[in-house]
Amino acid sequence: MITGEVRLWKMTRKHVRERLAAGQIKGAILPTGSTEQHNEHLEMEHDTASALHVSQQAALGLFPKVVLATPMAIGISEHWMEWPGTLSLRPETFFQVAYDTCESLARHGIEHVLVCNGHAGNGPLRNEVAGFGEKLGIDIQFHSYWEAYSKEFVQQHMESGDCPAHAAEFETSIALAAFPENAHWEGVDYDAETFDIQRENYREQDPRYAHDARDYATPHKGRIMIDAAVEWVAERMTEMMEGTATS
Ligand SMILES: [Zn+2]
Repeated sequence: MITGEVRLWKMTRKHVRERLAAGQIKGAILPTGSTEQHNEHLEMEHDTASALHVSQQAALGLFPKVVLATPMAIGISEHWMEWPGTLSLRPETFFQVAYDTCESLARHGIEHVLVCNGHAGNGPLRNEVAGFGEKLGIDIQFHSYWEAYSKEFVQQHMESGDCPAHAAEFETSIALAAFPENAHWEGVDYDAETFDIQRENYREQDPRYAHDARDYATPHKGRIMIDAAVEWVAERMTEMMEGTATS
């Protein structure tokens, strides 16, 4: 049976101390997300909320061996700054927060940290974590949770064939399955409204993603994608703790 708290920030010092002393905690998952525009209908927190959701389900499945570090809710989002509400860290700031968080975990004796990412713009962190691990003498890996899906799996389950895309069918399906209150369709009319988009390579994508979200996203698809991601993240974490991880 799955019971118990896995979120570090919801534990007391007594909880953490006793679980560490009992040798229960072997690894941590650090969710990384963003606070950025997700088209007209999804909340800014989407990437953080989805990374947290997948990470939490994975950690619960591995209870009591894995805890969650506090999610990094602001990521590298300079490319969305034309949309008010987006918050962005400079890459070096983002890397440093991730490093300091991993160092804190290492100092408490946690030797395996899986960064579970939910925002494509945070991708450059992947190249940093090996160096972090070497410096700290622990095992750190970076994965975006959608690495769980093969091309065939995406084709099979996403009508648009597009994943992760941005605020499109995939992300909207995840929201509808895990936190439907984050989808706001009221007053949104993607056929009526057009936007003067400065970022050139997004001008064509913005309306297409919006229509994919509106026409194809369902909670059922979201559940399938979440379950596959949770299983995959739990496998990666298990490999790390067993010392059999390859990448
Ligand atoms: Zn997103």
